[in-house]
Amino acid sequence: MPDLSRARDRMIDIQIAKRGIRDPHILDAMRQVPREAFVDSGFEEFAYEDGPLPIGEGQTVSQPYIVALMIEAAEVKPSERVLEVGAGSGYAAAVMSRVAARVYAIERHPSLGGSAQERFRRLGYDNIDLRIGDGTLGWPDAAPFDAILVAAGGPEVPQALKEQLAIGGRLVIPIGGEERAQTLLKVTRTSQTDYEEEDLGGVMFVPLIGEQGWTEDGRRSA
Ligand code: SAM
Repeated sequence: MPDLSRARDRMIDIQIAKRGIRDPHILDAMRQVPREAFVDSGFEEFAYEDGPLPIGEGQTVSQPYIVALMIEAAEVKPSERVLEVGAGSGYAAAVMSRVAARVYAIERHPSLGGSAQERFRRLGYDNIDLRIGDGTLGWPDAAPFDAILVAAGGPEVPQALKEQLAIGGRLVIPIGGEERAQTLLKVTRTSQTDYEEEDLGGVMFVPLIGEQGWTEDGRRSA
């Protein structure tokens, strides 16, 4: 694979820092993680372009800026435990693993999850636990989480994820009545029973498919 480290540094300066991401932990993490190792073969040379890229199963690795924006919005800190729903290629989990203490990642497609695991192993990212399953139900055995990031858009905030937030924990999730047009929502758990919501603006994500998301054919799950 060609050395793309200069393209990576340029991407971080132009697409990330210049657009207002300031957290040095996130900028450092993005400098460490080779995005070219997370894209489909043949797409490596496009790894530092300003957009999503295909990763198989009709899914994408998100635009780098969106990855940084979500991690910053979730206020992920070095001592924290984070859940990612929608691990896809594993890129965002890898970036978070360089910021947080431990990352739990769930992916519904076994083939994508398997490739992500293999990348973590190859790159030595040993503070990530990945499992295959329906992330709308969270990961009850590992809860509570200081932050939860959902990389796919659902019709509403899954109750299971709210319940698996620590007090003071932050959940960042795209929510919308249409499958591919959403608002990025930040939900902060302020007490055992109370949550605050903040609208972070419009985004476009692939659908969150699961028991507390959409059905495979685009209806709200019961
Ligand atoms: N964070 C990913 C990355 O860095 O490559 C981006 C993933 S892509 C935008 C969204 C992913 O969410 C897809 O891989 C999709 O299969 C997955 N997904 C959708 N619904 C899910 C669910 N209920 N549980 C787990 N994964 C889900």
